[in-house]
Amino acid sequence: MKRIIVAIDGYSSSGKSTMARQLAAIIGYTYVDSGAMYRAVTLYALRHGMATPGGALDTARLVESLPEIAVTFSRSAEGAQHTMLNGVDVESEIRGMEVSEMVSPVAAVPEVRRHLVKLQQGYGVEKGIVMDGRDIGTTVFPEAELKVFVEASPEVRARRRVDELTAKGVKVDYDEVYANVCERDRIDTTRAESPLRKADDALVLDNDRLTREQQMEWLLERFRERVGE
Ligand code: C5P
Repeated sequence: MKRIIVAIDGYSSSGKSTMARQLAAIIGYTYVDSGAMYRAVTLYALRHGMATPGGALDTARLVESLPEIAVTFSRSAEGAQHTMLNGVDVESEIRGMEVSEMVSPVAAVPEVRRHLVKLQQGYGVEKGIVMDGRDIGTTVFPEAELKVFVEASPEVRARRRVDELTAKGVKVDYDEVYANVCERDRIDTTRAESPLRKADDALVLDNDRLTREQQMEWLLERFRERVGE
């Protein structure tokens, strides 16, 4: 069967990662969470004093350090994907609010984007991949056979993020999360280097109105059309 590239883009907490991960598991493709890569670089910047939570970013030092930042993925025995920073599992640290608050400014640095885009493109060489992010259909894989752009209101996305973090035992405040979602939208859509936007040939999936099962059904139908099944 023909193997393709599936690009899933959308706003923060639009549910795209869960959807992309599930799709990859069903169709037997590799899943890559590109946001996790930006989060890992952000964690590195925070740990090395190049970024202070809610504060300044030392862009020059971060750019200089890029060759020393290796971001990879490993799979646990249960099949869950873990993000590794220089060989160490940082999956839970990269999901916290400190990283969430600094990740969009870090992801707006052109050199950071170029560094990670190159790594991301490497994952797609053999196709058979589902990648989610902000610029996958526009910049990373403009030739992807299936592109989906996920939309959901900021309220629904903030509520979802609060529920996710609460389920993990992280205490968060809805207003703080809502403000972070809106601020990340603003930075992601207005940055100069590959801003978040729908690719002209991407299909729109409105996440507010469909259940998870309906979304997956819709996505699988589009996938089967593309692989000619
Ligand atoms: O997907 P997630 O919310 O984990 O991504 C975290 C941040 O990384 C986003 O808010 C965005 O600033 C950045 N990002 C990006 N390009 C991608 C994926 C994520 O700029 N392809």
